Amino acid sequence: MQIDFKDAGRLRRFALIVDDEFVNRELLGEMLKDEYHILYAVNGSEALEIIRESASTLSVILLDLMMPEMTGYELLEVLKAEEDLKNIPVIVLTAEQDAEVRCLSLGASDFVKKPYGNPEIIKARVRKTVELSEGRSFIRSAEKDELTGLYSRAFFFEYAGMMDRYYTDLKTDAAILNVEHFHMVNEMYGRSFGDEVLKAIAAAINEFLSDTEGLACRSEGDTYLMYLRHRDDYNGLLNLINKKISALSKNLHIHVRMGVYPKVMHDMEMDRRFSCAKYACNTLRGNYMRYIAFYDMTMRERSVFFEHLINDIHESMDQGQFRIYYQPKYDIRGEEPFITSAEALVRWEHPEYGMIRPETFLQIFEENGLISILDRFVWKETIERLGRWRREGITDIPVSVNVSRIDLYDEALPDYLLDLLEENGLTSADLLLEITESAYTDDNKQFVEAIENLKEEGFLIEMDDFGSGYSSLNVITTMPIDVIKLDMRFIERIHEDNKSLMVVRLIMEMAGSLGVPVVAEGVEVAAQFDLLKKFGCSIVQGHYFSKAVPPEEFEELLRAEKEE
Ligand code: C2E
Ligand code: MG
Ligand code: MG
Repeated sequence: MQIDFKDAGRLRRFALIVDDEFVNRELLGEMLKDEYHILYAVNGSEALEIIRESASTLSVILLDLMMPEMTGYELLEVLKAEEDLKNIPVIVLTAEQDAEVRCLSLGASDFVKKPYGNPEIIKARVRKTVELSEGRSFIRSAEKDELTGLYSRAFFFEYAGMMDRYYTDLKTDAAILNVEHFHMVNEMYGRSFGDEVLKAIAAAINEFLSDTEGLACRSEGDTYLMYLRHRDDYNGLLNLINKKISALSKNLHIHVRMGVYPKVMHDMEMDRRFSCAKYACNTLRGNYMRYIAFYDMTMRERSVFFEHLINDIHESMDQGQFRIYYQPKYDIRGEEPFITSAEALVRWEHPEYGMIRPETFLQIFEENGLISILDRFVWKETIERLGRWRREGITDIPVSVNVSRIDLYDEALPDYLLDLLEENGLTSADLLLEITESAYTDDNKQFVEAIENLKEEGFLIEMDDFGSGYSSLNVITTMPIDVIKLDMRFIERIHEDNKSLMVVRLIMEMAGSLGVPVVAEGVEVAAQFDLLKKFGCSIVQGHYFSKAVPPEEFEELLRAEKEE
């Protein structure tokens, strides 16, 4: 799959905008023109002509509903009926609430509300729709999921909408169920056993729903959605799931998490209701004592906060609210530690909320795809800074940047970085790429290929947060990595707890024998530093030496070192 959405001049996809109103066409075209070649049509029949002509090259259709000659509904009907046309994704542009159900049943993939809101969000949605249709799509016209027999996602959403319409007074809950670390089940017991687990959960859900109004689907691999009559207590369902899972095998420890948005507000869009349930569910991450979380007022306030953040991102970028801080990495192999590199870390200086750390906003940006915009911004700033440092003779060390998992799906990534480096008089040897360990665990071919491509271009790859996920030591030998960055949690207790010390030692020895250098991050005190040095750690990053600091302060550190 090729994804190259942003760079004019390189491969761009074709998008068709169909709207009878000039202003609406222009507005949307303006938003999308950097990422797509835009075609325009003023009504359904003109659109149909264009679609027939360019069906094979058209990536997405943005379709208004109310138009003279042939309406959007009519066009959807036609598209749905034609084999060659029915798989082109259509995003419906609408101001009406209830158009959605009808359009979904006619095969629309998504909706954009009029009047148009934040362009970044619209762009991200279009991008997501295109991505889904290009290979990661699991929805095609099937009504049921083959494996579990539950509804497929598209049909589920359609029927959930109908449920609202037919039972207008019914109080309903939106719920999401997710298996924690499901990939581990697949890895340890094999895929077909994994399938059995998924089926067992579906069977439990079915049984549970048999005596209440409600429906369910399997939304992605190990995630289930339910839309049902409100209830206060879901223990019955969780018990049923546990019973079915233990019937498969007694010693299995599978942790199912559940998030519920109770008594949903009916004026909220359906997928937003499930985002709320998901939000609640995510609060359970890493918490093995609790199985279920309900979306409540405080969460609502937090998600309003997040919504603000999402809406602000573009403006914030223009206004320079995102700042790159640099945290030095020290080579500690010799007598005197010296700065050998640095990590670029993003900070958001928000006019209203003050300094926001990445852990607050990265996850939501990852979920809605905005992270790739932010990452590109960070890389660009960092590379430009690095170029300046080089030209002004301030330093010639390489700097590392963080790369998110979804960045790796962008085939243009190596070229994007190489071009930027070249423009600034640098090469791939000047930039290290940190990819977090959790990104590696899915053992995804495309992912490994992407990393190999980057390596071929000369980039060094650091595996970030090593040991935080569930990948085994084995990945050092099987995955393309140049450097291991030990997760901070190991370092935290090495000077107090013998077990962590042993683990760190073991990793260090193994990496050493494979010739893979180890970076230890989160080093805060001398005792940790001494131990790491003793066990042959090459590079250290942490508050013991310096926090992440603004570039001016980082330059001070470099200067001070030179003067010593
Ligand atoms: P990371 O890549 O593992 O970065 C290290 C984090 O540990 C940084 O937090 C750093 O400030 C912090 N740290 C370093 N030394 C110490 C120490 O001695 N003690 C303690 N307590 N903390 C220390 P930060 O900057 O909040 O970043 C958190 C995570 O956010 C990063 O983890 C990285 O995964 C992500 N991140 C930061 N900037 C970006 C970015 O531009 N793009 C992407 N995709 N992710 C980013
Ligand atoms: Mg990092
Ligand atoms: Mg890290």
